[in-house]
Amino acid sequence: MRVSIVGGGFAGLAAAQLAERATADVQLYDEGSYSGPRRGAWGEMVWDYSKLPVERDVPGYVREATTGIFVGSEGKTTVNVPDGVILNRGELEKHWARTLDRTEIVENAAVNEAAFRQLAAESDLLVDATGQFPISQQFTDLSYDVACPTLSGRIEADFSHLYPEPRALAYENYFLWIVPQSPEEATVGLGCRADRSADELYADMRTLLTEIDVEPPERGTLYSGTDVSNGLRSLADCSYELNGCTVHVAGDAIGVANRLTGFGMIHAAQSGRAAVGAFFGAESYRRRLLCQNFWPKAVTGALAPVHDTIGLEGIARLATSDIEYQESFEPQGPSDIVSAVRAFL
Ligand SMILES: Cc1cc2nc3c(=O)[nH]c(=O)nc-3n(C[C@H](O)[C@H](O)[C@H](O)COP(=O)(O)OP(=O)(O)OC[C@H]3O[C@@H](n4cnc5c(N)ncnc54)[C@H](O)[C@@H]3O)c2cc1C
Repeated sequence: MRVSIVGGGFAGLAAAQLAERATADVQLYDEGSYSGPRRGAWGEMVWDYSKLPVERDVPGYVREATTGIFVGSEGKTTVNVPDGVILNRGELEKHWARTLDRTEIVENAAVNEAAFRQLAAESDLLVDATGQFPISQQFTDLSYDVACPTLSGRIEADFSHLYPEPRALAYENYFLWIVPQSPEEATVGLGCRADRSADELYADMRTLLTEIDVEPPERGTLYSGTDVSNGLRSLADCSYELNGCTVHVAGDAIGVANRLTGFGMIHAAQSGRAAVGAFFGAESYRRRLLCQNFWPKAVTGALAPVHDTIGLEGIARLATSDIEYQESFEPQGPSDIVSAVRAFL
């Protein structure tokens, strides 16, 4: 069996890790490199770290973070972060890639549509883990229910007044986060629900950071990104046939990130494993994805109209009210939505 994986972020690496247990013929293609500098300045915090098939205290594992601070107009609240960890994701990805001893890793390989078709013709399973706006959009109707523009970077400044807790600050349309790696360095980002250009985001980020006594970074040190997510129905596009090969779409490519928080690294890894596990177990990948994501997607989907009406500031008010997210910030069942709405009203 030949397994080809395109995209080597958390989804692709997790897929390769599982695939090399099942077959000796695994190729992982990534347009970046695992030896030089690696993109890594998008938020770097995860919850539920133990769901990641990677040890603790490896390169890229920065420290535990079991609480975070959520700030809305009604003040700040401390949120429990179940199994929370701050990462340097680029370093973690490099380490993870080094642990794949039976996978052929092809770096600096930007796979285009023609090459993707060719890989399909040569493979039994092709995993598309190319992240937001993936290559599979050429072959399917894949699109995103949520796509928020973001601007983020790893910046050096004085964070001693904010260290050590990661913080999320909610404004009407904006979401600003600061994840301190140390008192002198943090991943800082701004996400927006409305359509904003990178320059507009930058101007607003400068204002917001200045308000909280953080020296704004230079524009050139920041990356533009998009926080993408899909609801349950869109997961239907997670599997298709191309040139006689099964293609499974994993991670951000299929939009498995949480629709409210945007957290997606753990979900990406889980879906990468599901993409491979379902194939070798002769099970439906779609079914696995639905099972893995049912409650978070159903509940965050139900919350979406509330979100659209009350905005991020409203979500912040929800978070400061008496909702029990102690087990996990991911809503687990319908009672979470009911209690969230009741608390808000
Ligand atoms: C600004 C921002 C902040 C975020 N903060 C957090 C956070 O704090 N915690 C969290 O859990 N999630 C966060 N997320 C979400 C998280 O980044 C994603 O859900 C997660 O990275 C998805 O992993 P992935 O492997 O699917 O995709 P990616 O991490 O995007 O990896 C895709 C890989 O595919 C490669 N690739 C792409 N196209 C090609 C191609 N044509 N050929 C070959 N290779 C290709 C890329 O080089 C890349 O390595 C954030 C997202 C954004 C935008």
